[in-house]
Order: sequence, then structure tokens, then C-alpha cells
Amino acid sequence: MALLTDSLLPLLGKKSATALGEALGIHTVADLLRHYPRRYAERGELTDIAGLEIGEHATVMARIERVEKRRMRNKPGFITEMVITDGHRKLSCAFFGNNPQRDRELRIGRTGLFAGKVNAFRRTLQLANPEYQMVDGDDAEKMDDFLGALIPVYPAAAGLPSWVIARCVRQVLPTLDRTEDPMPAELLARYGLMDLFDALHTVHRPADRAVLELAHHRLKWDEAMAVQLIFAQRRYSAVSRTAPACPPVPDGLRDTFDRRLPFELTAGQREVGDSIAADIAREHPMNRLLQGEVGSGKTVVALRAMLQVVDAGRQCAMLAPTEVLAAQHARSLREMLGELGAAGELGAAEQATKIVLLTGSQPAKERKQALLDAASGAAGIVVGTHALIQDSVSFADLGFVVVDEQHRFGVEQRDALRSRGADFTSPHVLVMTATPIPRTVAMTVYGDLETSSLREMPVGRSPISTTVVPVAEKPAWLDRVWQRIVEEVGKGHQAYVVCPRIGDEPAANNGSDKRPALAVLDVAAELEKGPLSGLRLGVLHGRLPSDEKDAVMRAFADGKLDVLIATTVIEVGVNVPNATVMVIMDAERFGVSQLHQLRGRVGRGDVPGLCLLVTEALDGTTTRERLAAVESTTDGFELSRLDLELRREGDILGAAQSGKRSALKLLSLLNDEDIIADARVRAQEIIADDPALGNHLGLAHLVATVVDADRAEYLEKT
Ligand code: ADP
Ligand code: MG
Repeated sequence: MALLTDSLLPLLGKKSATALGEALGIHTVADLLRHYPRRYAERGELTDIAGLEIGEHATVMARIERVEKRRMRNKPGFITEMVITDGHRKLSCAFFGNNPQRDRELRIGRTGLFAGKVNAFRRTLQLANPEYQMVDGDDAEKMDDFLGALIPVYPAAAGLPSWVIARCVRQVLPTLDRTEDPMPAELLARYGLMDLFDALHTVHRPADRAVLELAHHRLKWDEAMAVQLIFAQRRYSAVSRTAPACPPVPDGLRDTFDRRLPFELTAGQREVGDSIAADIAREHPMNRLLQGEVGSGKTVVALRAMLQVVDAGRQCAMLAPTEVLAAQHARSLREMLGELGAAGELGAAEQATKIVLLTGSQPAKERKQALLDAASGAAGIVVGTHALIQDSVSFADLGFVVVDEQHRFGVEQRDALRSRGADFTSPHVLVMTATPIPRTVAMTVYGDLETSSLREMPVGRSPISTTVVPVAEKPAWLDRVWQRIVEEVGKGHQAYVVCPRIGDEPAANNGSDKRPALAVLDVAAELEKGPLSGLRLGVLHGRLPSDEKDAVMRAFADGKLDVLIATTVIEVGVNVPNATVMVIMDAERFGVSQLHQLRGRVGRGDVPGLCLLVTEALDGTTTRERLAAVESTTDGFELSRLDLELRREGDILGAAQSGKRSALKLLSLLNDEDIIADARVRAQEIIADDPALGNHLGLAHLVATVVDADRAEYLEKT
């Protein structure tokens, strides 16, 4: 009898075992049995051809409508052209060469499974040289796969079609030993979960849809548990480290700052501030994610926490994704602190601390001084980019790290922070994001962090209205966009124009017929010549020397420029209340959360903001739906939910980029919130009791198969 951990080789022939390993990375019994069918074809029902996507490897159940074998015109040999149908639409197929067995099998009126890559050939869908398996008549009786009402269709690969995988499963499944379920019995009972043995049998050979549902429910639990156990272990090992305790100091800098604050903290700011204050006073590291809309006042919350740390005699690092933002943060922290942040300067307050900026492109002398201030402890707050941590800048006593904008800051980078404190302690970490994350994503992707949210906006925010400008359908609207900018500038306001590309890259020739994205430099040149001539235009992008970037930003902030044409360097943190219009070119090339971030640059003063999303995407496409979602709401939490619905889940977990399939095959971040939340609680209990899972070997193996070492990568690719 076989165990889940067994290798497939003795169970299957060498040829099949090797093919599974090479094509799909399936090596063990567990790998194979957890390679669940993607869907189930109903016996007697044909696959809807309209649902196929060009480029996918598809398996369809279809009927042969026409077959014709003839000699090829231009070269020797035969071609068999075949048309298969789902009853409505047709798919054309072509086979090359002479194959008498094929001639016998492929006959008009017969039904079979056909698998191959979907191409578009002369505007019709085509499967070139498909693999096939007839499912009617004599062949079916030989193949007991096809006797069930639901025929499993597996994620397949070229040379390894679904029915070959089915055959392997059919060979292995009966040998599976009914051993103890890895999931604790008490948990199975509590949530009424199907036993693993039964669930695996059912998912591969379901009797009907109802029982399949139960099997899926159980197998989703496996995935949720595996992910949550990993996070519970991460949290456990994080809190078992020591951290510099930073208890509040009465009448310290923090208190002084609070007394001088020109506004009242919102209830949310106070509440989150209290949790953070309590966390950083402890001897174990805080790992917290703070989410809040652009402008919800996260920076003040972070600054108050930093001051508590400075009061305790330790240092803080604040990390931003770009140098421009780091410079801006340093500037705004200095402004907020005033004389409290001017240590070493004339007129500084007695308790004052020093804020230093440390970036790679600073003049050498300035950088040297900043490094010195960090190492000596003279700097209470060091602001820089993520390189600050990676380049192992030395700190006298680093107690707290604030990371602004988490979406470029993964688990790996968070790990790099460990042991950066004095005496090998881990600093406290606060990650801030302006992209609200749906709860399931927070639990699944950022599961190692505690999360807090700022949901209310401080007073004085102006509404932002957003409009999609569909230039393919309404070309004249683009002129209106530029006119609108001219009008706003006429009223003394300013505007941004954002483009996806800089435009000084060598011409990309990637063979794609897609138009290259609009570029800052080209758009700026055109606007200057035409629609915006006479206005004061500035250009900002990541490849400008950093003093130039700074100068442009400052000129814009000081109102010396009317329009800033930029890449997404202005996405986060830039604060110019006088800017009222945000035009985003080729808007469909940006993600939903990026667009939301970008428009947060306007509506920061007392005049309502306007955001115009210029796109060539056509009505009715998913791309346009995403833009419509951005247009429909400015509630970041609602938007993140819409985004989740529109994106394929793999994208969220980064599987799309890595080319691997997501570790989560069945679990849906959109629909399975309950399972995820319950699994989180149970995983936490189990790990508290048995941190290394030494008494839960089945669960340890589950973690390894569901999220094995290289699949765990998805946790970092976000
Ligand atoms: P975020 O970092 O979340 O985008 P900031 O902390 O930069 O937001 O705050 C945006 C602006 O709102 C800043 O000018 C800040 O001084 C101001 N602000 C923050 N909290 C409050 C408050 N409670 N009342 C009024 N203004 C506030
Ligand atoms: Mg901010």
C-alpha cells in the first residue's frame, strides 16, 4: 500500500513517472493526488468552445463534425483537417502525416476529448495537432475513467494530456493506504470535514456534484491550514525574539509633540497609536501592518511612535520605496517636528532629535555625515530607501523600523530586518500601506503581521471625482482633458500628467504588436508644442539625477511649475495641496491600487480633485471594467474588493509572474473568508502548543506539500 509521501516511481512505470515529474513537477503520491481536476466534464455534455482563451492549453469534449484527409499542396505528405463542435461553435484541428489508426478513430459524429494549445488561425479558433481520446463506443468501455457521470479534466501539459493523468491517478488511488488523517480529529469533527482519504478519492472520482463540494471544502481547509501554519510559525518565531523595549517616557519628546499638534488626532489615530505604543514598549518585536487611505494620517501615527522610541534612547529608520519619497518624508518629518527635530541646529528645542536623510545618490560629504550620525546615534530618525537595510548601514541602537508603502516590501525584506538591532535583537516593525487590502489577502499574504486600519479621514479632505476618458471611442475628449488643465491653471491650480514610461529606453523590439506605452518625454514634448504651450511644464522620473528630481519637486511644490509630467515616482507621498487635476495616460497599464494611489495626489487642499483616466481600452473588456471600478468608488476598501473580483487569484499571489501555479489551487481569497479565518485561529493554537509541529507530523507534511519550499516563494512575490 502507498503512503502520500511515497515516490511515484515504483507505482507507475518509469515513463509516466518521468513525464509527470518533468511536465508538472509531480513526484510523490501526494503531488499527484493533490493535482486536482480543474473541472469536470459532464458525461454527454460538450465543452463550451466560446469559453476558450487563445494561448491556453485546453481540453475540450466535442463532437467531430467534419474530417478530411488530403495530400498537402506544397510539400509531400498528408494533412487531416477536422472540425469539432460543441453544438454551436466550431474549432478547427489539423493533423499532419499518415496514421491509419487515427483515420479509423476520427469519424464524423463521434465524441471525444481533444487537448492542445488554442491558436487563432485566420480568425477561427484552432487546435493544432491535438491529442485526443474518444469517449464513446468501444474505447470508453476500455477506459473506466469515462464511466462516471463526471469526467475529471486535469490541468495538463503538452505530451501529458488530461486522460493520461487520469490514468495515472486511477492506477495510484486504489493503492493509497487509509492512514491517520493529518488534521486533528477534533478539528475535523468541529468543522464537519470529510476525511482526507475520502476527499482525495472523491475529488478524482466524484459520484455527484454534492459530494464533490464536500471534498473541495475539506481540501480547501488543507490549503488554508498549510498557509496559516506557516504564518503562525513565523509569528511565533518573530515574537520569541527579543526586541528593544521602548516604554513611553512622561514629558518626553512624544508628549511635547502631542501638546504642540495643531489638530486633534482622530479616534482611529488615537486607537492605533495606543496599540503601537503598547507593542513597542514590550521586549518582543512588533510586526504590524497599518493600512489607511492616502491622507488618512498614517505618517503622524508613525512619527508619534518614532518619538516614543527616541525618548527611550533608541533610533528609528524610515524606509520609502524611492529616493524622491525618502527626501520628501525627511522634509515633512522635519516640518512636523519643527524645533523638536532640529538637534544640533540653532534654535533647537532642548529635547530635540536629529532627522537625517541617507540615500545612495547624495553628495559624498553629505552621505558620509549621515552615515556617521546613524552610527554614532546622533540621528534619532534616519530616512532612506530600502537600501538602508540591505546595505547594512550601521546604527548605534536601532529600535524601530517604519516601512512606508508595503506593496514593494515582501517577506524576504522583512526578514532582512531581523537582527539589525543592537545585541542581535530585532527592531519593532511598522509597515504602512495606502492600499487597503481585503481581509483575506491580509491574512493570506501578510499573515505574519498584525493589522490595524485607519478608516476615517481627518477633516478637511476634498472629494475626488474620477472619469474614464475612452479615446478610442471618444477621441475629442482628449482635447477636453488638456483644456481642463489650462482652465485649472488659469484658476491658479496645478496638474499632474502621469505616463507609464520614461521614454529614454532603447526601443524595445519584443515582437509584440502592442503599441509601446506612452512616455513622459514624448508626451511632455507634445504638450509643450501644442495643447499646453505657454504653461510652465516640468518633467519628473526615476532616472533624473537626484538633485534634479528634488529641484523639480520643489519647484512644483512652490508653485513655480503649472504641470508636472511624470512617471509613477509621484505615486506615493507627494503632497502638493494646490494640485487639483491628475491625468493618467494609458491608464489601463496601471493596477487598480496604483491608480487609486495616484489620484490621491489631488483633492489634498480645499478644492475638489479631478482624476482623468485616459485609455484606448475598449468598452466591455476586463481592462475597462477595472477602470470603471476605479471610477465608481473612492473607498479604498471597497475598491480593493472589486479589484480582487476582477483579478485572477493567481495574480494576487504572484504566481503569474513566477510562471508557477499558485499553491492555492482550490482556496479562493474572494469566497473562502470563513475557512481562512477559522484556519488562522486553529493554526495559531496548534503552533502555540507545538511550534515545530513535532507532534503533528501529518500537518508538517501537509505544509511541505501544499506550500513546499519553492512554492512558498509566492508569499514573497507580492
Ligand atoms: P498618509 O501618510 O496616511 O497619507 P499623512 O499622515 O501624510 O497621511 O496626513 C495627511 C495630511 O493630513 C498631513 O498634512 C497631516 O498633517 C494631516 N493630518 C493628519 N492627521 C490629522 C488630523 N487628525 N486632523 C487634521 N489633519 C491631519
Ligand atoms: Mg504618507
